[in-house]
Amino acid sequence: MIQRLRGTRDFTPVEMAKRNSLEAVLRKISAEYGFREIQTPVMESSELFVLKSGPGILEEMYAFEDKGGRKISLRPELTAPIIRFFVNELSNYPLPLKVFCISDVFRYEEPQSGRYREFAQYDVESIGSDRPEADAELLILASDLCSRLGLKNVNIRIGHVGIIREKLDKMGIPRDTQADFLRLMDKRKIGEATDLLLKAGMGSSQSRELIDLCQTRGDGGIARTLKGEKAEYLLKVVSFLEATGTVSYEIDMGVVRGLDYYTGIVFEIDANDLGAEKQICGGGSYELTRLFGGNAVPSTGFAFGFDRLILAMEKAGWKCGESTVDCFVLAVSDEEKAAMLKIATALRRKGIGTEIDLMGRNMSKGLKYASARGAKFSVIVGGREIASGKLTVRDMDTGKQEEVPVDSIAEYMLGRTGQKRISS
Ligand code: AMP
Repeated sequence: MIQRLRGTRDFTPVEMAKRNSLEAVLRKISAEYGFREIQTPVMESSELFVLKSGPGILEEMYAFEDKGGRKISLRPELTAPIIRFFVNELSNYPLPLKVFCISDVFRYEEPQSGRYREFAQYDVESIGSDRPEADAELLILASDLCSRLGLKNVNIRIGHVGIIREKLDKMGIPRDTQADFLRLMDKRKIGEATDLLLKAGMGSSQSRELIDLCQTRGDGGIARTLKGEKAEYLLKVVSFLEATGTVSYEIDMGVVRGLDYYTGIVFEIDANDLGAEKQICGGGSYELTRLFGGNAVPSTGFAFGFDRLILAMEKAGWKCGESTVDCFVLAVSDEEKAAMLKIATALRRKGIGTEIDLMGRNMSKGLKYASARGAKFSVIVGGREIASGKLTVRDMDTGKQEEVPVDSIAEYMLGRTGQKRISS
């Protein structure tokens, strides 16, 4: 038997029903906030991701050479492809350009529960504004999404990596060391981060001050205690969130996202019921357009992972039934197979989800299959029915049978399935 690759999944019909229902909510909420859907290729030049995240990213990607010797990668995330698309083809659109993308990404990492090598993300990018209301709008969208999905025990943590960078700049810490420091802080490796600062020549009280700042957590009041333009910006963002009266958040200056291109507000959302892999969303403001050959354009974006979202929704009690059919049509013998197909076609054309017997089952086995598929009605087509011009319709919930003229079966079924949908 050929096994599926590590870290990849097959999705059953039930799992697909869940994913499709999540996608429908994501598309709806995106439209409500004025975000438009786009799509980019699964493969990109490896250079795109190396430019954005440094050569280390090659180790974490599915990177290979194609038959023409081109260095190619399966996309590990969606921000870089979207900004490449913007710089190359969308920069004439009026700003802000607000887009979203629902796609699979690929990362060569160690699979574990909630962590895969291929997984879907809902990625949202608001391109063109450097104003606090743009950041606030994204945070409100993310928070609104969590509540609409019924998530409980969710924690939105907001930081400002610009404030930390400014301090590192003032203390003369070189950019490379800053990046290493932020990566360590992102992983909450306090000891190693302190050693790094000391090694870079920072005094022990200064380094303690900086580490303390990174460990500052609390309500919006914290933004008032910080000084400078960037702190004022953070304060504006959180005051907008407070004005909505619906977003609960925490300031956490330790959110630094560990990647070089973030410039300002950064945030992470945890679903606390999920255990180790509890981070369901990460995002922040950044500037990547110049790196990809365009003019400087500020952006803010975030990405939610599908798998953890679905897990968190289920922890909160969400149940999603498998899609079922309305109707099952069964021919009693081979003589009535053509009539079965004709009737099914008439039903389907009225929008009634219909399955037919494809296995040559007898009546009792056919009805058993129909109930396993969740059919609300079965239509029995036998010699007697053809002769009388009346079909036997069985209500699969009650077992009651009725005779319905062949010519009006579609109308009849439309009415009955409609009634069932209303009452269920
Ligand atoms: P990132 O692009 O790393 O900021 O991740 C954004 C979101 O994608 C995370 O919050 C997770 O929900 C999800 N995610 C990240 N890595 C994985 C993975 N290996 N498997 C499943 N979901 C992931």
